[in-house]
Amino acid sequence: MRTVLSRVLMLSSRHVGAERASIIVLDGNQAVEGALIVNDFLLERSVEHWNNVLQDGLAGWVLRNRQAVMLSDTSRDERWAQRPDDAASRTGAKSAICVPVMAREQVVGILTIVHPKPLFFNQEHLALVQSIADQAGIAIYNARLYNSLQAVTRRYRELFDDSIDPICITSLNGQILEANRQAISLTGYPAEVLAEKSILELLKLPADWLSVNAEPLGAGQTLRQEGLLWTADQSAVPVEVHVRKVAFPSGDVLQWILQDITERKQLDALRDDLMAMVYHDLRSPLSNIISSLEMLNMLLPVSDDENLRALLSIAIRSTGRMQRLINTLLDIYRLEAGQPITNRTRTEVAPLVYEAVDTILPVAENKGQQVDVQIEPNLPPLDIDTDMIRRVLINLMDNATKYTSFKGKIFLSVCRKGDRVEFSVCDNGPGIPPDALEVIFDKFARLQSERFPKGIGLGLAFCRLAVRSHGGEIWVESKVNEGSCFTFALPVSPGDGESPSG
Ligand code: ADP
Repeated sequence: MRTVLSRVLMLSSRHVGAERASIIVLDGNQAVEGALIVNDFLLERSVEHWNNVLQDGLAGWVLRNRQAVMLSDTSRDERWAQRPDDAASRTGAKSAICVPVMAREQVVGILTIVHPKPLFFNQEHLALVQSIADQAGIAIYNARLYNSLQAVTRRYRELFDDSIDPICITSLNGQILEANRQAISLTGYPAEVLAEKSILELLKLPADWLSVNAEPLGAGQTLRQEGLLWTADQSAVPVEVHVRKVAFPSGDVLQWILQDITERKQLDALRDDLMAMVYHDLRSPLSNIISSLEMLNMLLPVSDDENLRALLSIAIRSTGRMQRLINTLLDIYRLEAGQPITNRTRTEVAPLVYEAVDTILPVAENKGQQVDVQIEPNLPPLDIDTDMIRRVLINLMDNATKYTSFKGKIFLSVCRKGDRVEFSVCDNGPGIPPDALEVIFDKFARLQSERFPKGIGLGLAFCRLAVRSHGGEIWVESKVNEGSCFTFALPVSPGDGESPSG
């Protein structure tokens, strides 16, 4: 900006033969942003001086009136603020031209040239200074644009470098154009070596990967993929890659965020080990305990002690609950990994429903709750993983008894709707707010309320996974303070046609 301005002043004074020229640059609020004054050399003036000029002097008048002025004798015009040196014969100011410098309809500066002799300037001088001022307006505007562009570029660089994730910018053929600090540190290559490489080489991706995956990416679309990043010392770091196409004025580029997921992978491995432990080390001894307890229950003479029998049934119920929880955890793990249902068997609906009801009935009875069941007759058998769907029903009924108060009502109904069988578990409990109707099916989602019993928030997540993996759907309708109705629908096998009732 300073270079541009001193050039403007030199040009103005030289071309009109002025003794002195000055320019005041104004900011968006029309306050002094900077100023320059030249004689043969650059002269220094205080900010206060320039403020005074703007307030009392000709420059202030020009700013307010947005008009050029030419004075033939400054001592005879009250718009000129007289200074002690104005009368000096060599350096004073008797003739003056003062013009507004405009850019986009705004006054961005005031250009003044003076000469110690009166009647020195003519209309040609005025026209010339005016045209220099017009050029200066464009130059100031461009200099400001340049400054803000520089600031934006610096900001972008800071954001790019300070990002906690490693980021690379590449051309559409994968050549690395830029890499931030994190990317340099993750890959272990010096910046200049990295700039010679292709991202495909670092990720060991096939040559056609970009044309197949990145080229079709539309605006705002991000491709996510896990992979390995090969570092300078040839070790492989597991990364989650996010690729996005970004439109730069010079052409499209690709932005690669390379999240280091080493820790997540270690946790996944730990979880796999834990699941294997749950599967082998807890599940089989638990099955042994359950079958032993059931045998004991059968072997116990009918006439035997009632207390003993009650204790035994508590043990059977509790171990059954534990077994359901373990199976549910395992199912979540397997279904999330995309494993299909393998052990489908043809299952009659009514016995399945009553088994689930029998499991929950003692809990409901303890709470003085009424459980009603209505099953449409002649329902077709379903090809399902019987144990899994039984646990879905038990989960929904368990929630209904858990969240409904003492003496509440629970209603389970099953009917056929077209080519599906719908199971509904309704209660007159606290209900669920509309904004939570979807969320409660997410893992670990729980509605925070003091009065709600404790849980881990996996039940409904399991139900949704289980129902969906059977090609079905699950949803809830609810009104706060009135109750909730959870329904899931399972498809009828193709061979089992429409029921007469439709
Ligand atoms: P958990 O019962 O272990 O918290 P779920 O996944 O079974 O986990 O349920 C998630 C949340 O949905 C519960 O915490 C509860 O807030 C809400 N919820 C589930 N069933 C009912 C119901 N019948 N009535 C009211 N709220 C319910």
